[in-house]
Amino acid sequence: MRVQTAFNTMLAIPGAWVRTVTFTPAGVVVGLRLRRKRLRCPCGFTTRAVYDRSVRRWRHLDLGACRLHLEAEIRRLYCRRCERVVTEQVPWARPGARLTRDLEDLVAFCAQRMDKTTVARLLRVSWETVARAVVRVVADHLDATRLQGLYRIGIDEVSYRKGHRYLTVVADHDRDDAVVWAGKGKGAATLAAFYDELGKDGRARIRAVSMDMSPAYAKATTEAVPAAAQCVDPFHVVALANRAIDEARRWAWNLERRAERAGRATRGSRWVKHTRWALLKDPGDLSREQLGVLEEIRRARSVLYRCWQLKEGLRDLYRLRRPQDAELHLDWWLAWACRSRIPAFVKLSRTVRANRDRILAAVELGLSNSKMEGLNSKIRLINHRGYGHHSAAAVIAMIYLCCGGITVELPTER
Ligand SMILES: [Zn+2]
Repeated sequence: MRVQTAFNTMLAIPGAWVRTVTFTPAGVVVGLRLRRKRLRCPCGFTTRAVYDRSVRRWRHLDLGACRLHLEAEIRRLYCRRCERVVTEQVPWARPGARLTRDLEDLVAFCAQRMDKTTVARLLRVSWETVARAVVRVVADHLDATRLQGLYRIGIDEVSYRKGHRYLTVVADHDRDDAVVWAGKGKGAATLAAFYDELGKDGRARIRAVSMDMSPAYAKATTEAVPAAAQCVDPFHVVALANRAIDEARRWAWNLERRAERAGRATRGSRWVKHTRWALLKDPGDLSREQLGVLEEIRRARSVLYRCWQLKEGLRDLYRLRRPQDAELHLDWWLAWACRSRIPAFVKLSRTVRANRDRILAAVELGLSNSKMEGLNSKIRLINHRGYGHHSAAAVIAMIYLCCGGITVELPTER
């Protein structure tokens, strides 16, 4: 069998013949010739008129441990529809790519599941190549109708570049793999861009919007969809309560220190240090040791025990058996917290009071909290796996790839 025939059968490149096979130190180079004579613009326009020609290489799936490149003469054409000179489209690669479609799909499949360093090492490509491949695969797979038929949405800000920059992410409460939109920035203008894209009909269909407690999203939502119910996602409320616990612990530690210096009998400031997880974790998840710490705080009548009660009291709002009791429960909690004389919780009570109606709306509407919380931690995982250092466009593509319901087919499974 001729080597060209063997490679033709083995690679089965759509729309092309294998003309040459060359073994070089950089790997195997397979020379291709396109079968069709007509030139095709990515927009669909075809012509016979060639503007100019050049030779291009694409990296393909490895051959054993050898790198494999496809090489072909590629022509440019003047597209009358796009009104400019463009490179013709080839069947084995996406426009502008230097990897074949198969290799790009493999990169994206791995990026969904592995950290960036591993993908780059396994497939012998650079980090930038991984990022570019993901952007192209996502552009190819993203469902264009995903913004239609949205009724209940959740909005959240997420950070990237080690927490220095922000994105706004919009998710559909009624769908798994819920991200439908992501944009750069975390202000009202970013969210307004989403509402614009949604169109008049899309906006009219929105019934409920869940979000954090920042005024920016509320403002944009009130302007764009005034009729929609606004609510605060419970996990933001719980996160604030946890932050209040940390603040209160520092405050209690300072109180103990001051008492120590004044020579009064205290339990010692060092003791406060070991209380963090006992106070923060869900009571059901506490270890025996942490339960012991909590019991000790209770017996010592420490102010920290009241902090813990206040935090759990707020969380109880989401554990009520009858949602109708939410209003009564929240008002009781607000009265308790604002008279607690613990600065962190007095401050928290003010924030909660300012958002009272939107917090109650979340309980009433019963929007699943685990969706937005799960999404938030999934995006944190993307950052953690090393994909959060690139441009906003690359991070957004990763968010769509991992949380937007995109299924990437492996070349070996087609
Ligand atoms: Zn065109």
